[in-house]
Amino acid sequence: MTTPRDSGREPNPSEPTITTPAPKLCGRETRGGRPCRQRLPDPRFEVACRQHATEAEAELATARRKAYYVGYQDAQESARRYADFRIEQLQQRISELEQAAKPPRRMTEPTGRQIVEVGGHAYVWSGNEPLAVGDAVWLPENYVSRVRIGAGPYRGEVSALGTDYTGPLSQIIRRA
Ligand SMILES: [Zn+2]
Repeated sequence: MTTPRDSGREPNPSEPTITTPAPKLCGRETRGGRPCRQRLPDPRFEVACRQHATEAEAELATARRKAYYVGYQDAQESARRYADFRIEQLQQRISELEQAAKPPRRMTEPTGRQIVEVGGHAYVWSGNEPLAVGDAVWLPENYVSRVRIGAGPYRGEVSALGTDYTGPLSQIIRRA
């Protein structure tokens, strides 16, 4: 069980969680003969305060600290890789679900009339010869064409056969 050092603050997930073991005092004998009351920076690494630690003890503390944080960074790195992997999996699943939720592409109306797309919009075709991609057709005026091109039918080119669009369809007037 670990305790956040600053319990009054919400932990920031991008920051390593600093845990504080129970505080420990140095305890080394001072000149006055009493144990040193200096708190150890971190008893997992230090065995004595800076003043009382021997050179070897200080070196050991540094090595322990380094090993701890390197290990911690590795854990963070693998956690991040796992998170990336999970996100990738979820994105894959989402696109599968989106694909499954898509209505099947309608190629004809129930009456058998062909459905095509022209300029991103779906139309029905009542002619005898089926249309092919690239065929030029005359389309009925709509509010966009009225503004952009002017009143009356306008020319377009079949861009796709069938459509995902589920709403009502306008009719192609004739081949161009
Ligand atoms: Zn000390």
